[in-house]
Amino acid sequence: QGLDEFQGAVEDCCCDYATVDALNQEFLHDILTKIVKTPFFRYFKVRLWCDCPFWPEDGLCQLRDCSVCECPENEFPASFKGLGSDHLTCQEGKPQGIVDRTMDAQAFQGWTETDNPWTHDDEAQNGDITYVNLLLNPEKFTGYTGVSAHKIWEAIYMQNCFKEGERDTCAERRVFYRLISGLHTSISTHIAGDYLLDEATTKWGKSYVMMHERVLMHPERVQNLYFTFLFVLRALTKAGAYLSQAEYSTGNDAEDQETHELVRRLVNCQQLRTACPIPFDEAQMWRGTDGAELKQQLQIHFRNISALMDCVGCEKCRLWGKLQILGLATALKILFSVEDSPAHTLDLQRNEVIALVNLLSRLSESLELVHEVANDIKTSNKLL
Ligand code: FAD
Repeated sequence: QGLDEFQGAVEDCCCDYATVDALNQEFLHDILTKIVKTPFFRYFKVRLWCDCPFWPEDGLCQLRDCSVCECPENEFPASFKGLGSDHLTCQEGKPQGIVDRTMDAQAFQGWTETDNPWTHDDEAQNGDITYVNLLLNPEKFTGYTGVSAHKIWEAIYMQNCFKEGERDTCAERRVFYRLISGLHTSISTHIAGDYLLDEATTKWGKSYVMMHERVLMHPERVQNLYFTFLFVLRALTKAGAYLSQAEYSTGNDAEDQETHELVRRLVNCQQLRTACPIPFDEAQMWRGTDGAELKQQLQIHFRNISALMDCVGCEKCRLWGKLQILGLATALKILFSVEDSPAHTLDLQRNEVIALVNLLSRLSESLELVHEVANDIKTSNKLL
């Protein structure tokens, strides 16, 4: 099983699969891998308290009525309300789920604190903030599974009204569904790519079976991964001028200079401009008569998804969930909210830039992993 079936243009996008693969393999993956290791991009500011707005004050992981849910009452799955603490699989005690908080707050200075309309943003409130070194906390298998994890995914897909999924004839809702599904594919890819194969010997490696079952067996999930990659890439290039001139100061001039250079190489990538100048055409969105209303609705739903990240019952999953949802919210802000602001100017928080670039790097890595595993399975029968 290879990825041979993916040919032609990525649906809802402006580039074809082969071009995306060539760009990623030859340029983007390499630059992104270097950028996320730089001091500026490796520290993420985050509130990691499990203060789920859907759960009761007593901390028993049980959902109360949905306070921030903006969907009609009947769209909120009834089963969610009765989720008792017995079913919760909190993974805080597992070594693979623990967040290493070794960090350097010194490396994290300033930038503006502007609001992002697409996120339930609490990072601007500085209480209970942690700075996490992402390199010490790679996204991988943590053991978080079962009812708790499923309920979150279910709430993301169902409570937020993307019910029709792939088949939704409303292009805007379909785009939102595909963004979430693409991110979900990427998370599954990283879990399967860095999996605890043998608990007794603590042997880690790729789980071919898991990658096959969760990702490769579902071509539409892989297609959505490509879509999400192109969407985020478009946001990054649209913000190119802003990012080229931004401050990447962490107190070490030589390192900061290198970061700046890598960002410039990424946003000005000539090969990308030639082969895939507009990875996603945001001008096609919100054009119907109900465009403005739909946009407002989807913005509320996306904020709900962002709030749901506080319900993720495993700290490391919450860290990457929050980072990647903030990355998507930043892409949405760049593509859809800039014209709304009175000055028509883009203003990003430092954490938004870190989330956007790290998300793109995660997606780029997922594309590589999916190809690698598909080829291994095809050539050496790894599933047997
Ligand atoms: P799940 O991945 O839980 O999927 C639930 C259902 O969603 C599936 O049965 C299927 O119907 C549907 N589905 C699956 N993939 C897609 C897709 N791409 N598009 C559309 N529908 C889909 N676990 C870790 O080990 N490490 C992590 O870092 C981690 N991070 C997480 C972050 C978040 C925000 C959440 C909610 C969960 C995270 N988890 C993590 C848990 C992990 O995502 C799975 O929930 C868990 O491994 C159980 O997987 P599963 O195969 O049962 O199905």
